[in-house]
Amino acid sequence: TDLAKIRNFSIVAHIDHGKSTLADRLIQLTGTVAAREMKAQMLDSMDIERERGITIKANTVRIEYPAKDGETYILNLIDTPGHVDFAYEVSRSMRAVEGSLLVVDASQGVEAQTLANVYQALDADHEIIPVLNKVDLPAAEPERVAAQIEDVIGIDASDAVQISAKSGLGIPDVLEAIVHRLPAPKGDRDAPLKAMLVDSWYDSYLGVVVLIRVIDGVIRKGDRIKMMQTGAVYGVDKLAVLKPKMIDIPELGPGEIGIWTGSIKQVRDTRVGDTITSEKKGCEAPLPGFKPAQPVVFCGLFPVDSNDFEPLREAIEKLALNDASFSYEMETSAALGFGFRCGFLGLLHLEVIRDRLEREYDLDLITTAPSVVYHVFMRDGTKIDLHNPADMPDLTHVDRIEEPRIKATIMVPDEYLGDVLKLCQDRRGLQEDLTYAGSRAMVIYDLPLNEVVFDFYDRLKSVTKGYASFDYQITGYREDNLVKMSVLVNDEPVDALSMMVHRDRAEMRGRVMCEKLKDLIPRHMFKIPIQAAIGGRVIARETLSALRKDVTAKCYGGDASRKRKLLDKQKAGKKKMRQFGRVEIPQSAFIAALKMD
Ligand code: GDP
Ligand code: MG
Repeated sequence: TDLAKIRNFSIVAHIDHGKSTLADRLIQLTGTVAAREMKAQMLDSMDIERERGITIKANTVRIEYPAKDGETYILNLIDTPGHVDFAYEVSRSMRAVEGSLLVVDASQGVEAQTLANVYQALDADHEIIPVLNKVDLPAAEPERVAAQIEDVIGIDASDAVQISAKSGLGIPDVLEAIVHRLPAPKGDRDAPLKAMLVDSWYDSYLGVVVLIRVIDGVIRKGDRIKMMQTGAVYGVDKLAVLKPKMIDIPELGPGEIGIWTGSIKQVRDTRVGDTITSEKKGCEAPLPGFKPAQPVVFCGLFPVDSNDFEPLREAIEKLALNDASFSYEMETSAALGFGFRCGFLGLLHLEVIRDRLEREYDLDLITTAPSVVYHVFMRDGTKIDLHNPADMPDLTHVDRIEEPRIKATIMVPDEYLGDVLKLCQDRRGLQEDLTYAGSRAMVIYDLPLNEVVFDFYDRLKSVTKGYASFDYQITGYREDNLVKMSVLVNDEPVDALSMMVHRDRAEMRGRVMCEKLKDLIPRHMFKIPIQAAIGGRVIARETLSALRKDVTAKCYGGDASRKRKLLDKQKAGKKKMRQFGRVEIPQSAFIAALKMD
Protein backbone atom coordinates (compact mmCIF):
# COMPACT_ATOMS: atom_id res chain seq x y z
CA THR A 1 0.00 0.00 0.00
CA ASP A 2 1.08 3.56 -0.75
CA LEU A 3 2.42 5.09 2.47
CA ALA A 4 0.62 8.37 1.75
CA LYS A 5 -2.72 6.55 2.01
CA ILE A 6 -2.09 5.09 5.47
CA ARG A 7 -2.94 6.68 8.81
CA ASN A 8 -2.12 4.93 12.07
CA PHE A 9 -3.59 6.18 15.32
CA SER A 10 -4.73 5.36 18.81
CA ILE A 11 -7.43 6.81 21.02
CA VAL A 12 -6.50 8.12 24.43
CA ALA A 13 -9.06 8.96 27.07
CA HIS A 14 -9.91 8.78 30.72
CA ILE A 15 -12.06 5.82 31.62
CA ASP A 16 -15.73 6.23 30.56
CA HIS A 17 -15.05 9.24 28.36
CA GLY A 18 -16.18 7.24 25.33
CA LYS A 19 -13.15 5.63 23.75
CA SER A 20 -14.82 2.29 23.01
CA THR A 21 -18.04 3.90 21.81
CA LEU A 22 -16.09 6.08 19.39
CA ALA A 23 -14.12 3.09 18.12
CA ASP A 24 -17.42 1.28 17.51
CA ARG A 25 -18.76 4.26 15.57
CA LEU A 26 -15.67 4.51 13.37
CA ILE A 27 -15.92 0.81 12.58
CA GLN A 28 -19.62 1.04 11.90
CA LEU A 29 -19.60 4.16 9.76
CA THR A 30 -16.92 2.78 7.46
CA GLY A 31 -18.80 -0.48 7.04
CA THR A 32 -15.85 -2.43 8.40
CA VAL A 33 -18.27 -4.71 10.18
CA ALA A 34 -21.67 -5.46 8.69
CA ALA A 35 -24.48 -3.95 10.75
CA ARG A 36 -25.86 -7.33 11.79
CA GLU A 37 -22.47 -8.35 13.23
CA MET A 38 -22.09 -5.18 15.21
CA LYS A 39 -22.34 -5.54 18.94
CA ALA A 40 -21.62 -2.80 21.42
CA GLN A 41 -17.94 -2.36 22.19
CA MET A 42 -16.59 -4.50 19.41
CA LEU A 43 -13.07 -4.13 20.63
CA ASP A 44 -13.40 -4.99 24.32
CA SER A 45 -13.21 -8.74 24.24
CA MET A 46 -12.56 -10.07 27.72
CA ASP A 47 -15.55 -10.48 30.04
CA ILE A 48 -13.98 -8.48 32.80
CA GLU A 49 -13.35 -5.66 30.34
CA ARG A 50 -16.97 -5.57 29.34
CA GLU A 51 -18.12 -5.65 32.93
CA ARG A 52 -15.91 -2.86 34.09
CA GLY A 53 -15.92 -1.01 30.84
CA ILE A 54 -12.17 -0.86 30.70
CA THR A 55 -9.79 -2.12 28.09
CA ILE A 56 -7.09 -4.39 29.38
CA LYS A 57 -5.37 -5.69 26.28
CA ALA A 58 -4.75 -3.49 23.32
CA ASN A 59 -6.93 -4.27 20.31
CA THR A 60 -6.61 -3.28 16.74
CA VAL A 61 -8.74 -2.71 13.69
CA ARG A 62 -8.05 -1.76 10.07
CA ILE A 63 -10.61 0.54 8.52
CA GLU A 64 -10.94 1.47 4.85
CA TYR A 65 -12.20 5.00 4.50
CA PRO A 66 -13.16 6.70 1.24
CA ALA A 67 -12.38 10.33 2.09
CA LYS A 68 -13.98 13.44 0.66
CA ASP A 69 -10.88 14.02 -1.50
CA GLY A 70 -11.87 10.92 -3.51
CA GLU A 71 -9.04 8.76 -2.21
CA THR A 72 -9.50 5.67 -0.09
CA TYR A 73 -7.35 5.61 3.01
CA ILE A 74 -6.34 2.77 5.29
CA LEU A 75 -6.79 3.75 8.92
CA ASN A 76 -5.25 1.49 11.53
CA LEU A 77 -6.65 1.98 15.01
CA ILE A 78 -4.76 0.52 17.92
CA ASP A 79 -6.90 0.59 21.05
CA THR A 80 -4.44 0.92 23.93
CA PRO A 81 -5.10 -0.45 27.42
CA GLY A 82 -6.83 2.09 29.62
CA HIS A 83 -5.19 1.35 32.95
CA VAL A 84 -2.03 2.44 34.68
CA ASP A 85 -0.97 -1.15 35.45
CA PHE A 86 -0.42 -1.61 31.75
CA ALA A 87 1.48 1.62 31.21
CA TYR A 88 4.35 -0.22 29.58
CA GLU A 89 2.07 -1.78 26.98
CA VAL A 90 0.52 1.62 26.37
CA SER A 91 3.90 3.21 25.78
CA ARG A 92 4.91 0.47 23.35
CA SER A 93 1.70 0.53 21.35
CA MET A 94 1.89 4.33 21.17
CA ARG A 95 5.20 3.95 19.35
CA ALA A 96 3.49 1.85 16.69
CA VAL A 97 1.34 4.77 15.49
CA GLU A 98 1.83 8.41 14.46
CA GLY A 99 -1.15 10.13 16.01
CA SER A 100 -3.80 10.08 18.72
CA LEU A 101 -7.37 11.12 19.14
CA LEU A 102 -7.59 12.69 22.56
CA VAL A 103 -11.15 12.02 23.68
CA VAL A 104 -12.42 14.14 26.55
CA ASP A 105 -15.94 13.96 27.94
CA ALA A 106 -17.27 17.50 27.41
CA SER A 107 -19.39 17.25 30.54
CA GLN A 108 -16.49 16.12 32.74
CA GLY A 109 -13.30 17.66 31.48
CA VAL A 110 -9.70 16.52 31.81
CA GLU A 111 -9.07 13.72 34.32
CA ALA A 112 -5.97 12.02 35.71
CA GLN A 113 -5.85 9.28 33.08
CA THR A 114 -6.45 11.83 30.31
CA LEU A 115 -3.21 13.43 31.41
CA ALA A 116 -1.24 10.24 31.90
CA ASN A 117 -2.28 8.90 28.49
CA VAL A 118 -1.80 12.13 26.59
CA TYR A 119 1.70 12.50 28.04
CA GLN A 120 2.50 9.05 26.71
CA ALA A 121 1.23 10.13 23.29
CA LEU A 122 3.32 13.31 23.41
CA ASP A 123 6.35 11.23 24.45
CA ALA A 124 5.83 9.15 21.33
CA ASP A 125 5.80 12.39 19.24
CA HIS A 126 2.18 11.99 18.25
CA GLU A 127 0.15 14.50 16.38
CA ILE A 128 -2.91 14.95 18.60
CA ILE A 129 -6.50 15.67 17.59
CA PRO A 130 -8.62 16.79 20.54
CA VAL A 131 -12.13 15.31 20.40
CA LEU A 132 -14.84 16.60 22.70
CA ASN A 133 -17.32 13.80 23.24
CA LYS A 134 -20.84 13.63 24.71
CA VAL A 135 -21.86 17.05 23.40
CA ASP A 136 -25.42 15.66 23.38
CA LEU A 137 -25.49 15.88 27.18
CA PRO A 138 -27.16 18.99 28.63
CA ALA A 139 -24.20 19.36 31.01
CA ALA A 140 -21.68 19.44 28.16
CA GLU A 141 -19.50 22.54 28.07
CA PRO A 142 -17.26 22.04 25.05
CA GLU A 143 -15.80 25.58 25.08
CA ARG A 144 -14.84 25.36 28.74
CA VAL A 145 -13.31 21.91 28.29
CA ALA A 146 -11.38 23.02 25.18
CA ALA A 147 -9.91 25.87 27.23
CA GLN A 148 -9.05 23.42 29.98
CA ILE A 149 -7.22 21.15 27.52
CA GLU A 150 -5.14 24.14 26.41
CA ASP A 151 -4.51 25.17 30.02
CA VAL A 152 -3.66 21.85 31.58
CA ILE A 153 -2.11 19.92 28.68
CA GLY A 154 -0.75 22.84 26.72
CA ILE A 155 -1.91 21.78 23.27
CA ASP A 156 -4.01 23.77 20.81
CA ALA A 157 -7.68 22.82 21.17
CA SER A 158 -9.19 25.59 19.03
CA ASP A 159 -10.04 23.11 16.28
CA ALA A 160 -11.20 20.30 18.56
CA VAL A 161 -13.81 18.08 16.93
CA GLN A 162 -17.14 18.10 18.75
CA ILE A 163 -18.95 14.79 18.68
CA SER A 164 -21.47 12.50 20.25
CA ALA A 165 -20.10 8.99 19.93
CA LYS A 166 -23.45 7.79 21.15
CA SER A 167 -25.63 9.42 18.49
CA GLY A 168 -23.00 9.44 15.75
CA LEU A 169 -22.90 13.23 15.48
CA GLY A 170 -19.55 14.51 14.22
CA ILE A 171 -18.06 11.11 13.38
CA PRO A 172 -17.45 12.01 9.68
CA ASP A 173 -15.49 15.04 10.92
CA VAL A 174 -13.31 12.74 13.03
CA LEU A 175 -12.53 10.59 9.98
CA GLU A 176 -11.64 13.64 7.87
CA ALA A 177 -9.46 15.00 10.69
CA ILE A 178 -7.59 11.68 10.87
CA VAL A 179 -6.86 11.82 7.14
CA HIS A 180 -5.89 15.49 6.95
CA ARG A 181 -4.35 16.26 10.31
CA LEU A 182 -2.38 13.11 11.11
CA PRO A 183 0.88 12.43 9.27
CA ALA A 184 1.34 9.45 6.97
CA PRO A 185 3.87 6.89 8.23
CA LYS A 186 7.42 6.88 6.90
CA GLY A 187 9.45 3.83 5.97
CA ASP A 188 11.74 2.26 3.39
CA ARG A 189 10.32 -0.63 1.45
CA ASP A 190 13.73 -1.65 0.11
CA ALA A 191 15.46 -1.78 3.51
CA PRO A 192 15.76 -5.04 5.51
CA LEU A 193 12.61 -5.99 7.44
CA LYS A 194 12.19 -4.15 10.72
CA ALA A 195 8.88 -4.52 12.56
CA MET A 196 7.77 -3.88 16.13
CA LEU A 197 6.02 -6.52 18.19
CA VAL A 198 3.07 -4.54 19.53
CA ASP A 199 1.02 -7.25 21.24
CA SER A 200 0.44 -10.99 21.25
CA TRP A 201 -2.28 -13.30 22.46
CA TYR A 202 -3.26 -16.94 22.42
CA ASP A 203 -5.86 -18.21 20.00
CA SER A 204 -7.12 -21.74 20.48
CA TYR A 205 -7.08 -22.46 16.72
CA LEU A 206 -4.03 -20.54 15.61
CA GLY A 207 -1.76 -20.66 18.66
CA VAL A 208 0.07 -17.46 19.47
CA VAL A 209 -0.96 -14.50 17.31
CA VAL A 210 1.56 -11.67 17.02
CA LEU A 211 0.52 -8.10 16.22
CA ILE A 212 3.20 -6.10 14.43
CA ARG A 213 3.81 -2.71 12.93
CA VAL A 214 6.17 -2.79 9.97
CA ILE A 215 8.72 0.05 10.05
CA ASP A 216 10.92 -0.85 7.07
CA GLY A 217 10.98 -3.64 4.51
CA VAL A 218 8.26 -6.16 3.75
CA ILE A 219 7.05 -9.28 5.56
CA ARG A 220 5.52 -12.02 3.38
CA LYS A 221 3.74 -15.23 4.05
CA GLY A 222 6.31 -18.05 4.09
CA ASP A 223 9.21 -15.81 5.25
CA ARG A 224 11.62 -16.93 7.99
CA ILE A 225 11.84 -14.22 10.61
CA LYS A 226 13.82 -13.62 13.79
CA MET A 227 12.89 -11.94 17.07
CA MET A 228 15.91 -9.86 17.98
CA GLN A 229 15.56 -9.84 21.80
CA THR A 230 14.88 -13.55 22.21
CA GLY A 231 16.86 -14.72 19.19
CA ALA A 232 14.12 -17.19 18.24
CA VAL A 233 13.40 -17.91 14.57
CA TYR A 234 9.94 -18.73 13.16
CA GLY A 235 8.22 -19.23 9.84
CA VAL A 236 5.35 -16.92 8.86
CA ASP A 237 2.49 -19.40 8.41
CA LYS A 238 -0.29 -16.88 8.31
CA LEU A 239 -0.28 -13.16 7.63
CA ALA A 240 -3.45 -11.13 8.04
CA VAL A 241 -5.00 -7.79 8.84
CA LEU A 242 -7.73 -7.30 11.46
CA LYS A 243 -11.05 -5.87 10.32
CA PRO A 244 -11.40 -6.78 13.24
CA LYS A 245 -11.86 -10.32 11.85
CA MET A 246 -8.67 -11.75 10.38
CA ILE A 247 -8.41 -11.29 6.62
CA ASP A 248 -5.41 -13.02 5.00
CA ILE A 249 -3.02 -10.83 3.09
CA PRO A 250 0.10 -11.83 1.06
CA GLU A 251 2.40 -9.14 2.45
CA LEU A 252 2.66 -6.19 4.83
CA GLY A 253 4.86 -3.23 3.92
CA PRO A 254 6.14 -0.15 5.74
CA GLY A 255 3.55 1.67 7.84
CA GLU A 256 1.22 -1.32 7.89
CA ILE A 257 -0.17 -3.10 10.91
CA GLY A 258 -1.23 -6.73 10.97
CA ILE A 259 -0.78 -10.12 12.54
CA TRP A 260 1.20 -13.25 11.81
CA THR A 261 1.34 -16.71 13.30
CA GLY A 262 4.14 -19.23 13.15
CA SER A 263 3.76 -22.13 15.55
CA ILE A 264 4.85 -20.15 18.59
CA LYS A 265 3.87 -22.23 21.62
CA GLN A 266 3.33 -19.64 24.31
CA VAL A 267 2.81 -15.92 24.62
CA ARG A 268 5.79 -15.93 26.97
CA ASP A 269 8.02 -16.46 23.94
CA THR A 270 6.98 -13.10 22.55
CA ARG A 271 8.08 -9.82 24.13
CA VAL A 272 6.11 -6.65 23.58
CA GLY A 273 8.52 -4.10 22.13
CA ASP A 274 10.78 -6.71 20.52
CA THR A 275 12.06 -6.13 16.99
CA ILE A 276 11.20 -8.60 14.24
CA THR A 277 13.50 -8.93 11.25
CA SER A 278 14.42 -11.47 8.55
CA GLU A 279 16.37 -14.53 9.60
CA LYS A 280 18.97 -13.78 6.92
CA LYS A 281 20.17 -10.26 6.05
CA GLY A 282 18.29 -8.78 8.99
CA CYS A 283 18.33 -5.15 10.05
CA GLU A 284 21.38 -3.96 11.94
CA ALA A 285 20.02 -2.53 15.17
CA PRO A 286 16.83 -3.36 17.07
CA LEU A 287 14.32 -0.64 17.95
CA PRO A 288 15.43 1.31 21.01
CA GLY A 289 13.88 1.33 24.47
CA PHE A 290 12.96 -2.33 24.90
CA LYS A 291 12.48 -3.56 28.45
CA PRO A 292 10.52 -6.59 29.64
CA ALA A 293 7.53 -5.79 31.90
CA GLN A 294 8.37 -6.43 35.55
CA PRO A 295 5.86 -7.49 38.19
CA VAL A 296 5.64 -4.95 41.02
CA VAL A 297 2.89 -6.28 43.27
CA PHE A 298 3.03 -9.75 44.82
CA CYS A 299 0.55 -11.82 46.78
CA GLY A 300 -0.09 -15.42 47.71
CA LEU A 301 -2.95 -17.30 46.04
CA PHE A 302 -4.14 -20.37 47.92
CA PRO A 303 -7.07 -22.68 47.26
CA VAL A 304 -9.74 -22.57 49.98
CA ASP A 305 -10.07 -26.32 49.58
CA SER A 306 -6.65 -27.96 49.63
CA ASN A 307 -7.92 -30.54 47.10
CA ASP A 308 -7.99 -27.71 44.58
CA PHE A 309 -4.22 -27.28 44.55
CA GLU A 310 -3.64 -29.26 41.34
CA PRO A 311 -6.50 -27.59 39.44
CA LEU A 312 -5.10 -24.24 40.64
CA ARG A 313 -1.65 -25.12 39.35
CA GLU A 314 -3.05 -26.09 35.96
CA ALA A 315 -5.13 -22.93 35.74
CA ILE A 316 -2.20 -20.69 36.70
CA GLU A 317 0.08 -22.35 34.17
CA LYS A 318 -2.54 -21.87 31.47
CA LEU A 319 -3.05 -18.20 32.27
CA ALA A 320 0.69 -17.62 32.45
CA LEU A 321 1.11 -18.99 28.93
CA ASN A 322 -0.91 -16.05 27.74
CA ASP A 323 0.49 -13.36 29.97
CA ALA A 324 4.24 -12.85 30.10
CA SER A 325 3.97 -10.15 32.76
CA PHE A 326 2.44 -12.49 35.33
CA SER A 327 4.92 -14.54 37.39
CA TYR A 328 4.36 -17.35 39.89
CA GLU A 329 6.18 -19.84 42.08
CA MET A 330 4.96 -22.43 44.54
CA GLU A 331 4.62 -21.37 48.14
CA THR A 332 3.70 -23.23 51.31
CA SER A 333 2.13 -21.65 54.32
CA ALA A 334 1.38 -23.24 57.67
CA ALA A 335 -1.90 -21.36 57.69
CA LEU A 336 -3.04 -21.83 54.15
CA GLY A 337 -1.27 -24.94 52.91
CA PHE A 338 0.05 -25.17 49.36
CA GLY A 339 -0.37 -22.27 46.99
CA PHE A 340 1.49 -19.85 44.76
CA ARG A 341 3.34 -16.60 45.22
CA CYS A 342 2.31 -14.53 42.23
CA GLY A 343 3.67 -11.30 40.79
CA PHE A 344 1.56 -8.72 38.94
CA LEU A 345 2.00 -5.41 37.16
CA GLY A 346 -0.35 -3.76 39.63
CA LEU A 347 -3.54 -4.20 41.62
CA LEU A 348 -5.89 -4.33 38.66
CA HIS A 349 -3.73 -6.95 37.01
CA LEU A 350 -3.93 -8.95 40.25
CA GLU A 351 -7.70 -8.63 40.32
CA VAL A 352 -8.03 -9.60 36.69
CA ILE A 353 -6.00 -12.78 37.15
CA ARG A 354 -7.76 -13.71 40.37
CA ASP A 355 -11.17 -13.10 38.82
CA ARG A 356 -10.31 -15.23 35.84
CA LEU A 357 -9.10 -18.07 38.06
CA GLU A 358 -12.29 -17.95 40.07
CA ARG A 359 -14.65 -17.52 37.15
CA GLU A 360 -13.15 -19.38 34.25
CA TYR A 361 -11.67 -22.19 36.31
CA ASP A 362 -14.26 -22.21 39.09
CA LEU A 363 -11.77 -22.04 41.97
CA ASP A 364 -12.29 -20.56 45.44
CA LEU A 365 -9.16 -18.67 46.38
CA ILE A 366 -7.61 -16.96 49.37
CA THR A 367 -5.52 -13.95 48.45
CA THR A 368 -2.92 -12.81 50.99
CA ALA A 369 -2.28 -9.11 51.51
CA PRO A 370 -0.61 -7.62 48.43
CA SER A 371 2.98 -6.59 48.93
CA VAL A 372 5.52 -4.72 46.86
CA VAL A 373 9.10 -5.80 46.14
CA TYR A 374 11.52 -4.48 48.78
CA HIS A 375 15.25 -4.20 48.30
CA VAL A 376 16.89 -5.58 51.43
CA PHE A 377 20.57 -4.69 51.80
CA MET A 378 22.38 -7.09 54.11
CA ARG A 379 25.30 -6.26 56.39
CA ASP A 380 27.50 -8.62 54.38
CA GLY A 381 26.98 -6.49 51.27
CA THR A 382 24.46 -8.74 49.50
CA LYS A 383 21.04 -7.58 48.34
CA ILE A 384 17.76 -9.48 48.41
CA ASP A 385 14.64 -8.69 46.36
CA LEU A 386 12.00 -9.46 48.95
CA HIS A 387 8.70 -10.62 47.40
CA ASN A 388 7.23 -12.18 50.50
CA PRO A 389 7.33 -10.78 54.05
CA ALA A 390 7.64 -14.35 55.31
CA ASP A 391 11.14 -14.50 53.78
CA MET A 392 12.38 -11.40 55.59
CA PRO A 393 15.80 -12.18 57.10
CA ASP A 394 16.59 -11.55 60.75
CA LEU A 395 16.88 -7.79 61.36
CA THR A 396 20.31 -8.11 62.98
CA HIS A 397 21.75 -9.05 59.57
CA VAL A 398 19.98 -6.25 57.73
CA ASP A 399 21.69 -2.98 56.96
CA ARG A 400 18.79 -1.13 55.35
CA ILE A 401 15.58 -1.64 53.39
CA GLU A 402 14.45 0.33 50.36
CA GLU A 403 10.90 0.47 49.04
CA PRO A 404 9.44 1.55 45.68
CA ARG A 405 8.00 5.07 45.46
CA ILE A 406 5.51 6.49 43.01
CA LYS A 407 4.55 9.82 41.58
CA ALA A 408 0.79 10.04 41.99
CA THR A 409 -1.38 12.52 40.09
CA ILE A 410 -4.79 13.17 41.59
CA MET A 411 -7.47 15.42 40.14
CA VAL A 412 -10.27 16.36 42.49
CA PRO A 413 -13.03 18.97 42.88
CA ASP A 414 -12.04 21.74 45.24
CA GLU A 415 -14.35 20.79 48.10
CA TYR A 416 -12.69 17.40 48.60
CA LEU A 417 -9.11 18.63 48.40
CA GLY A 418 -8.65 18.73 52.18
CA ASP A 419 -9.63 15.09 52.55
CA VAL A 420 -7.35 14.03 49.73
CA LEU A 421 -4.37 15.85 51.21
CA LYS A 422 -5.06 14.24 54.58
CA LEU A 423 -5.24 10.78 53.02
CA CYS A 424 -1.95 11.27 51.17
CA GLN A 425 -0.31 12.66 54.28
CA ASP A 426 -1.53 9.65 56.32
CA ARG A 427 0.01 7.37 53.73
CA ARG A 428 3.45 8.92 54.19
CA GLY A 429 3.09 11.07 51.08
CA LEU A 430 5.23 14.09 50.24
CA GLN A 431 3.40 16.81 48.36
CA GLU A 432 5.20 17.91 45.23
CA ASP A 433 2.76 20.17 43.49
CA LEU A 434 -0.73 21.64 43.78
CA THR A 435 -2.36 23.57 40.94
CA TYR A 436 -5.86 24.48 39.85
CA ALA A 437 -7.69 24.05 36.58
CA GLY A 438 -11.02 25.75 37.05
CA SER A 439 -12.66 24.36 40.18
CA ARG A 440 -10.59 21.19 40.08
CA ALA A 441 -7.33 20.83 41.89
CA MET A 442 -4.45 18.76 40.59
CA VAL A 443 -2.11 17.44 43.26
CA ILE A 444 1.10 15.55 42.71
CA TYR A 445 2.36 13.38 45.54
CA ASP A 446 5.42 11.27 46.06
CA LEU A 447 4.09 8.18 47.87
CA PRO A 448 5.35 4.74 48.88
CA LEU A 449 3.81 2.16 46.53
CA ASN A 450 3.19 -0.07 49.54
CA GLU A 451 0.69 2.44 50.98
CA VAL A 452 -1.13 2.61 47.67
CA VAL A 453 -1.55 -1.11 47.04
CA PHE A 454 -3.18 -1.28 50.43
CA ASP A 455 -6.73 0.06 49.75
CA PHE A 456 -5.62 3.59 48.74
CA TYR A 457 -7.77 3.76 45.65
CA ASP A 458 -10.91 2.68 47.51
CA ARG A 459 -10.29 5.23 50.26
CA LEU A 460 -9.70 7.95 47.69
CA LYS A 461 -12.97 7.11 45.97
CA SER A 462 -14.87 7.08 49.23
CA VAL A 463 -13.55 10.38 50.66
CA THR A 464 -14.27 12.14 47.37
CA LYS A 465 -17.62 10.42 46.67
CA GLY A 466 -16.09 9.02 43.51
CA TYR A 467 -15.11 12.40 42.05
CA ALA A 468 -11.33 12.02 42.26
CA SER A 469 -9.28 10.49 39.51
CA PHE A 470 -5.92 8.97 40.09
CA ASP A 471 -2.92 7.79 38.18
CA TYR A 472 0.63 6.90 39.09
CA GLN A 473 4.01 5.87 37.85
CA ILE A 474 6.84 4.21 39.71
CA THR A 475 9.76 6.57 40.18
CA GLY A 476 12.37 4.53 42.04
CA TYR A 477 13.46 3.08 45.37
CA ARG A 478 14.16 4.90 48.62
CA GLU A 479 15.28 3.81 52.07
CA ASP A 480 12.83 4.05 54.93
CA ASN A 481 12.26 2.68 58.40
CA LEU A 482 10.54 -0.55 57.41
CA VAL A 483 9.93 -3.58 59.57
CA LYS A 484 8.24 -6.93 59.35
CA MET A 485 5.20 -7.25 61.57
CA SER A 486 4.30 -10.79 62.61
CA VAL A 487 1.04 -11.97 64.08
CA LEU A 488 1.00 -14.59 66.85
CA VAL A 489 -2.02 -16.59 67.90
CA ASN A 490 -1.54 -18.37 71.21
CA ASP A 491 2.18 -17.61 70.82
CA GLU A 492 2.38 -19.36 67.42
CA PRO A 493 3.37 -17.12 64.48
CA VAL A 494 0.84 -17.16 61.63
CA ASP A 495 2.94 -16.70 58.50
CA ALA A 496 0.12 -15.77 56.14
CA LEU A 497 -0.63 -12.68 58.21
CA SER A 498 2.85 -11.19 58.45
CA MET A 499 3.46 -7.99 56.54
CA MET A 500 6.02 -5.27 55.89
CA VAL A 501 5.05 -1.92 57.41
CA HIS A 502 6.59 1.42 58.20
CA ARG A 503 7.74 1.54 61.83
CA ASP A 504 5.49 4.54 62.57
CA ARG A 505 2.41 2.76 61.22
CA ALA A 506 3.12 -0.63 62.77
CA GLU A 507 1.25 -0.10 66.06
CA MET A 508 -1.88 1.04 64.28
CA ARG A 509 -1.85 -1.79 61.76
CA GLY A 510 -1.06 -4.32 64.49
CA ARG A 511 -3.92 -3.11 66.65
CA VAL A 512 -6.41 -3.32 63.79
CA MET A 513 -5.26 -6.84 62.91
CA CYS A 514 -5.52 -8.09 66.53
CA GLU A 515 -8.99 -6.62 66.96
CA LYS A 516 -10.16 -8.21 63.75
CA LEU A 517 -8.77 -11.62 64.64
CA LYS A 518 -10.36 -11.46 68.06
CA ASP A 519 -13.75 -11.33 66.37
CA LEU A 520 -12.89 -13.90 63.74
CA ILE A 521 -11.34 -16.73 65.73
CA PRO A 522 -13.89 -18.86 67.56
CA ARG A 523 -13.45 -19.16 71.32
CA HIS A 524 -11.75 -22.25 72.67
CA MET A 525 -11.84 -23.89 76.12
CA PHE A 526 -8.82 -21.75 77.10
CA LYS A 527 -7.72 -18.15 76.86
CA ILE A 528 -5.95 -17.22 73.60
CA PRO A 529 -3.57 -14.28 73.36
CA ILE A 530 -3.48 -12.60 69.91
CA GLN A 531 -0.42 -10.46 69.37
CA ALA A 532 1.30 -8.37 66.75
CA ALA A 533 5.08 -8.20 67.11
CA ILE A 534 8.17 -6.72 65.52
CA GLY A 535 11.09 -9.06 66.05
CA GLY A 536 10.59 -10.23 69.63
CA ARG A 537 8.70 -7.13 70.76
CA VAL A 538 4.94 -7.19 71.11
CA ILE A 539 3.33 -3.98 69.82
CA ALA A 540 -0.37 -4.85 70.08
CA ARG A 541 -2.33 -7.44 71.98
CA GLU A 542 -5.86 -8.74 72.43
CA THR A 543 -7.08 -11.69 74.46
CA LEU A 544 -9.82 -14.02 73.35
CA SER A 545 -11.51 -15.24 76.52
CA ALA A 546 -12.20 -18.91 77.18
CA LEU A 547 -15.42 -20.58 76.20
CA ARG A 548 -17.54 -21.70 79.12
CA LYS A 549 -20.98 -22.65 77.94
CA ASP A 550 -21.89 -25.65 75.85
CA VAL A 551 -22.44 -24.48 72.25
CA THR A 552 -25.68 -26.32 71.99
CA ALA A 553 -27.07 -24.74 75.16
CA LYS A 554 -28.66 -21.87 73.26
CA CYS A 555 -30.88 -24.32 71.40
CA TYR A 556 -33.41 -24.35 74.20
CA GLY A 557 -36.67 -26.24 74.00
CA GLY A 558 -35.04 -29.60 73.30
CA ASP A 559 -35.34 -29.28 69.54
CA ALA A 560 -33.26 -32.37 68.77
CA SER A 561 -33.11 -31.95 65.01
CA ARG A 562 -31.93 -28.38 65.32
CA LYS A 563 -29.30 -29.46 67.80
CA ARG A 564 -28.09 -32.15 65.43
CA LYS A 565 -27.96 -29.69 62.55
CA LEU A 566 -25.77 -27.37 64.58
CA LEU A 567 -23.39 -30.19 65.48
CA ASP A 568 -23.25 -31.33 61.85
CA LYS A 569 -22.51 -27.80 60.78
CA GLN A 570 -19.65 -27.64 63.24
CA LYS A 571 -18.27 -30.88 61.94
CA ALA A 572 -18.40 -29.64 58.35
CA GLY A 573 -16.75 -26.43 59.46
CA LYS A 574 -13.93 -28.44 61.02
CA LYS A 575 -12.66 -29.47 57.63
CA LYS A 576 -11.98 -25.87 56.81
CA MET A 577 -10.03 -25.33 60.04
CA ARG A 578 -6.29 -24.91 60.29
CA GLN A 579 -4.46 -26.04 63.39
CA PHE A 580 -2.02 -23.65 65.10
CA GLY A 581 -0.56 -25.35 68.13
CA ARG A 582 -3.70 -25.93 70.17
CA VAL A 583 -5.77 -23.36 68.32
CA GLU A 584 -8.04 -24.02 65.39
CA ILE A 585 -8.54 -21.10 63.06
CA PRO A 586 -11.23 -21.29 60.40
CA GLN A 587 -10.13 -20.62 56.85
CA SER A 588 -12.77 -17.89 56.66
CA ALA A 589 -10.95 -15.98 59.41
CA PHE A 590 -7.90 -15.64 57.20
CA ILE A 591 -9.96 -14.46 54.32
CA ALA A 592 -11.70 -11.87 56.46
CA ALA A 593 -8.51 -10.78 58.25
CA LEU A 594 -6.71 -10.23 54.98
CA LYS A 595 -9.57 -8.32 53.46
CA MET A 596 -8.73 -4.68 53.30
CA ASP A 597 -11.32 -2.39 54.78
P1 GDP B 1 -14.43 4.14 27.58
O1 GDP B 1 -14.24 3.70 29.00
O2 GDP B 1 -13.66 5.40 27.30
O3 GDP B 1 -14.19 3.07 26.57
O4 GDP B 1 -15.96 4.61 27.49
P2 GDP B 1 -17.19 3.91 26.80
O5 GDP B 1 -17.12 4.03 25.33
O6 GDP B 1 -17.35 2.54 27.38
O7 GDP B 1 -18.35 4.87 27.29
C1 GDP B 1 -18.65 5.06 28.66
C2 GDP B 1 -20.12 5.41 28.83
O8 GDP B 1 -20.41 6.67 28.22
C3 GDP B 1 -21.05 4.41 28.18
O9 GDP B 1 -22.16 4.24 29.02
C4 GDP B 1 -21.44 5.07 26.87
O10 GDP B 1 -22.70 4.65 26.43
C5 GDP B 1 -21.45 6.53 27.27
N1 GDP B 1 -21.18 7.41 26.12
C6 GDP B 1 -20.17 7.29 25.23
N2 GDP B 1 -20.24 8.28 24.31
C7 GDP B 1 -21.31 9.04 24.64
C8 GDP B 1 -21.91 10.21 24.07
O11 GDP B 1 -21.48 10.76 23.06
N3 GDP B 1 -23.01 10.70 24.70
C9 GDP B 1 -23.53 10.12 25.82
N4 GDP B 1 -24.60 10.68 26.37
N5 GDP B 1 -23.00 9.02 26.37
C10 GDP B 1 -21.91 8.47 25.79
MG1 MG C 1 -13.56 1.09 26.79
